[in-house]
Amino acid sequence: MSVKIHCILTGSLESSYSTSVYGAPERHPLVKKTDLLPYGYKERVYAEDGSFAPGLMVPVPVWLIEGEDQTILIDTGLGDCDEIMSMQNRYGIDYIATKSREEEIVGALARKGLKPEDIDVVALTHLHFDHIGNNELFSKARFIVQKDEVPFLVNPPPFATFYYREWQTKLTAISDRLEMIDGNYRIGKNLELIKVGGHAAGQMVVMARTSLGQVCIASDFYYNYTNIDRSWPMGPLWNVQQWIDNDRWIKANADIILPNHDYALLNRYPSLVIGE
Ligand SMILES: [Zn+2]
Repeated sequence: MSVKIHCILTGSLESSYSTSVYGAPERHPLVKKTDLLPYGYKERVYAEDGSFAPGLMVPVPVWLIEGEDQTILIDTGLGDCDEIMSMQNRYGIDYIATKSREEEIVGALARKGLKPEDIDVVALTHLHFDHIGNNELFSKARFIVQKDEVPFLVNPPPFATFYYREWQTKLTAISDRLEMIDGNYRIGKNLELIKVGGHAAGQMVVMARTSLGQVCIASDFYYNYTNIDRSWPMGPLWNVQQWIDNDRWIKANADIILPNHDYALLNRYPSLVIGE
């Protein structure tokens, strides 16, 4: 027996070279910049009046697991884009957040034959804003998060990126059903949460046994294929040593790795169903 993984897109976020690739080198004796640039890379273009055309856009997925006794969702994706942009603006971040009609999560789940109330378990891989944006919709689900993540949302240090105290509501909305764990945790016969850290203190990846072998749903441990193929982390990095160690562990234990924020995923898995 094995599970199927459905990647569901919930919108896109603007990113950049320096967000996608740690240190964003312009020159390097061992690698060419063109080999480090993430898929679809383009620079922002400003007009004289200050308006601009967005640069690199990256997907914001959630991952639906089919084949366990319970219906399991990994992360809840991008919330209201206007709310996100005004919230981030307070912190000096002017990245674009967008969502098409097809990327509204309720409709996207309906196309899989599900209502939000049908989700039994939600695993939050970490508490950055683009992973918790629709928590309140899942009114019947048990939520699982690493306990190390919670203080960062409740009282984020000012230098911590992508945790917004304005969005503590995303946690209080489900706090009666929140289970805080510490370490690895099996949520199904073919599904295990692995605490890896690196990108965030309590970052988790999901190891899933599928017909294609062991698949690692990497969440933000890897943003993109550059991070995977070059063993080169993304810009926002919490613990470098954990990243180095668990980059090795994941590659030793996974047959396939799914990065979280790379449209190149759609070229490799056009149906966005992995393990059919
Ligand atoms: Zn993310």
